[in-house]
Amino acid sequence: MKTTISRPRVAASGRKISPAQNGHGNGESSASRAGLKINPRLVEWLKKPKQNLIDGKWTPAASGKLFDVFNPADASVIARAPDSDKEDINRAVAAARRAFESGPWRAMTTSERGKLIWRIGDLILQNADELAELESLDNGKPRAVARVADIPLAADLFHYMAGWATKIEGNTIPISVPNFHAFTLREPVGVIGQIIPWNFPLLMAAWKLGPALTAGNCVVLKPAEQTPLSALRLGELLLEAGVPGGVVNIVTGFGETAGAALAAHDDVDKIAFTGSTEVGKIIVRASAGNLKKVSLELGGKSPNIIFKDVGDLNAAINGAANAIFFNHGQCCCAGSRLMIEREIFDDVVEGVATQARKIKLGPGLDATTQMGPLVSEEQLSRVSNYLHQGKQEGACYVTGGKRAGESGYFVQPTVIKDVKPGMSIVREEIFGPVVVAEPFTKVEELIPRANQTQYGLAAGVWTRDISKAHRIAAALKAGTVWINCYNVFDSALPFGGYKQSGWGREMGHEVLEHYTQTKAVVVGL
Ligand code: ADP
Repeated sequence: MKTTISRPRVAASGRKISPAQNGHGNGESSASRAGLKINPRLVEWLKKPKQNLIDGKWTPAASGKLFDVFNPADASVIARAPDSDKEDINRAVAAARRAFESGPWRAMTTSERGKLIWRIGDLILQNADELAELESLDNGKPRAVARVADIPLAADLFHYMAGWATKIEGNTIPISVPNFHAFTLREPVGVIGQIIPWNFPLLMAAWKLGPALTAGNCVVLKPAEQTPLSALRLGELLLEAGVPGGVVNIVTGFGETAGAALAAHDDVDKIAFTGSTEVGKIIVRASAGNLKKVSLELGGKSPNIIFKDVGDLNAAINGAANAIFFNHGQCCCAGSRLMIEREIFDDVVEGVATQARKIKLGPGLDATTQMGPLVSEEQLSRVSNYLHQGKQEGACYVTGGKRAGESGYFVQPTVIKDVKPGMSIVREEIFGPVVVAEPFTKVEELIPRANQTQYGLAAGVWTRDISKAHRIAAALKAGTVWINCYNVFDSALPFGGYKQSGWGREMGHEVLEHYTQTKAVVVGL
């Protein structure tokens, strides 16, 4: 994720506000002004006051305050969500604790729990069109992308995890002390605080909730303040699926208030966080009070390496463009450092730049849009600052390099060359559609350069030489290496970071290790 720590309160941002600011928001107004149709059911849903889900009930923030939720395509207000604070977090944690220690969740068999989790996946699929539309409106991504990627992947994660509910097993251990029977139990950790980002709002909620519930935990989830809506809609689906009250609590609000209160809470047993490396460090410090467990999925500056023996150069060029431009570059694993063998450097750079020039920018709800706006004004200014710095430092912009249009938070897809290792655009996570391209000549020089980053989330390697591909994959310090592909995800595949890209893994059965703890039991015979 990107690297900002503090963000201005939206009310203070001075951006264009629609008349809906004083009501509860109205998705109809902004999109229909632009001639884009929204499902009337979604329009009605957006008009309903948004509340937190605590103890199975929809509840306003204790302070009664709300914050504005924006459509990043035109900066209009589409809804208002509870501006929650410590008091709301306290109530949600207390509800999660009650649900964990007693009540139906505790008594539910693993088979029943698995079926319940499967139903959540089914309900997401049944509501996929509406969820995709909501995600597009709130985050800015093309509706069609949300419909084929975010939403089905979120459903699949619940379906995948459902099968594990009955398969979390301990071991019998043949200890060397005579006349004892020893075994292990794998038990839930307890009350889990989950703090998620805005780049894949529903999918990140699924990555977090799926394994936590599968292992029998109870949760307080805080969505990102930029994109709280799909998590609230998911809350409704969780109740419809039959998740008992208090098992999942969803509290919207800002990082510095609601998020900080959750990370520091003494009755939270574990925090699972996805976001920037800077905030990850704040979370670790906040967790020290009660030494709660922590898992982190953080930032990246991932090298995507193309060798001259790649074979199908066009496939590599398309792959490199997808690696950076998918989700507008707002991916922690974005292939933002393109390393190209010198002989093919110009061809690849020009190929990726040609792709970039062809990308059609527009509102996510427009069916012809290929890339939507960045998520927020803050993100636009952050990416713009990097683009400015790169120019100041003397890099060459092959294409892009500027904001696109005057309204909404659009940035031109950008390809940069003639960069030096010390430049901020080479070292830091930009979290926008911006790639820096560097040539290399020798493999011995390539690997140290590729690994010369505080991050270690992902990497790509493009070559037809199978031995070289494996050697490079082994040498790269990254949690995921894609060979002759990029951005391939699956619920069964663990994902997470080396170095400062995180602690632990999301997805796969490995994530369940972070949501269970082992108890050794010894029986004297
Ligand atoms: P991004 O760069 O994707 O915006 P952030 O790390 O800023 O990532 O935010 C990711 C999540 O972390 C959001 O839900 C945000 O509200 C939360 N967050 C931000 N600051 C803090 C903090 N100090 N304590 C806890 N959570 C925070």
